Amino acid sequence: MFGTSWHIGRIFGIPLRIHISWFLVFALVVWSLARYYFPAVLSQSPLWEYWVLGVVAALLLFASVLVHELGHCLVALRYRIPIAQITLFIFGGMAQIRREAPTPKAEFLIAIAGPIVSVGVGLCFWLLAALPRAPLELTAVSEHLRNINLVLAIFNLVPGYPLDGGRVLRAALWAWSKNFHKATRQAARAGQGFAVLLMLFGAWDMVAGLAIGGVWFLLIGAFLYTAAHNTHRQVAFQESLMGLRVGDVMTPEVVVLEAGMTLDEAVNNYFLRFGYGGFPVVDNGRLVGVLSLKEIKAIPRYRWGTLTVGEVMAPHSLQAEIHPDEPITAAMERMIHDDRSRLVVRDGGRVLGLVTRSGIARFLDLRQR
Ligand SMILES: [Zn+2]
Repeated sequence: MFGTSWHIGRIFGIPLRIHISWFLVFALVVWSLARYYFPAVLSQSPLWEYWVLGVVAALLLFASVLVHELGHCLVALRYRIPIAQITLFIFGGMAQIRREAPTPKAEFLIAIAGPIVSVGVGLCFWLLAALPRAPLELTAVSEHLRNINLVLAIFNLVPGYPLDGGRVLRAALWAWSKNFHKATRQAARAGQGFAVLLMLFGAWDMVAGLAIGGVWFLLIGAFLYTAAHNTHRQVAFQESLMGLRVGDVMTPEVVVLEAGMTLDEAVNNYFLRFGYGGFPVVDNGRLVGVLSLKEIKAIPRYRWGTLTVGEVMAPHSLQAEIHPDEPITAAMERMIHDDRSRLVVRDGGRVLGLVTRSGIARFLDLRQR
C-alpha cells in the first residue's frame, strides 16, 4: 500500500502498522459519535463526556478490527504460513499473509476465523449492554460496539474476493473444481460484481442527498474493485508461469570466469564484451561462486588490477544453485527470498547456465505478445 505507515509494535510476533489514512477515519468516527450518537442516547450528559466516550468507542472499534485480523493470522500461523504484518488503514484492517493456503480446508478456516471472532466480540458487548444496573455510559458504548462487530462480521461474509466471504467461496470452488486459479478468478469476479453494486449504491445515496454515506460506499466499492481486479491479473501471471521449468527460461551460459583472473581482466574481457550482469566462477573446473556487477561496484577502481575474481566473488552455496527441472516459480521465490538476481543452473557437476530475474521478465514479456 502506498503512503506512510508507522510500526507501532508486535502482537504474537506479528508486526503491527498504522497507515496515515487511519487517523482520518479515527477522527471521523470520534466526531460522528460525539456529535450524533452519544447526545442521542445520553441526553443528560455534559458535552465533554460525549467526546471522551467517542474516543473510547473509536479505540474499541479499532481493537475489534485488530482482533478480527488476529483471528485470521492465528489460524494461518497454525498452518505455518508466515504473516508479514497487520496494517490498520482507512477501511479497517489488512493482514498480509505471505503464502496461499495449502488446501481448501485451510483456506476456509483462515477466512472464516475473522468473522467468527467478530461475532464472538459482538456477543461479549451484547452481554455487557444487557447487564442490569450498569452505568448508562457502559451500556451506550457496548451497544454501539455490539452493532459494529456484527456489521463487521456480516459485511466481511459477502461472498466476493478479497472479502472473507469471497475467500470462503474460493475455498468451496477450489474443493469442488480442484483448480485453485480458476476458483480464485471466479471468486474475484464475484468480488468485482459486489464492488460495482456498492459503488452504484453509493452514487444513488449521493443523488438522494446522503453525501457522506454515499462517498463512503463509493470509496469502499472502488477499493474492493481494484483489489479484485489485481487478483485477476495476478492469477493470469501465475498461470502463464505454470508448467515452465528453469531449463526453459535459463540463459545457456557456457562462459565462466576463472577464480585466479584479476578483476581488470574479468571486466574488460567478459563483462564489457558479453554485457551480462554476472558470471559463474570456476576453479579447476569446479564451481566456486558467482561474480556479478554488484560485487565489482563495491571495489574501488584502483584495486581491480591486484584483486582476483576468487577474492571478490560471492562464494557458491547450495542456495545459489537450482536444478533445470525445478519449476520457474521456485526459482523466483528463491531469488526474492534471498534477494539474489541470479541462480546458477546445475545438473550434477555440470553448470548449464544462469537463470536471472531480468531473463525471466524478458521471457514472459515475449511470450505474452
Ligand atoms: Zn477478515
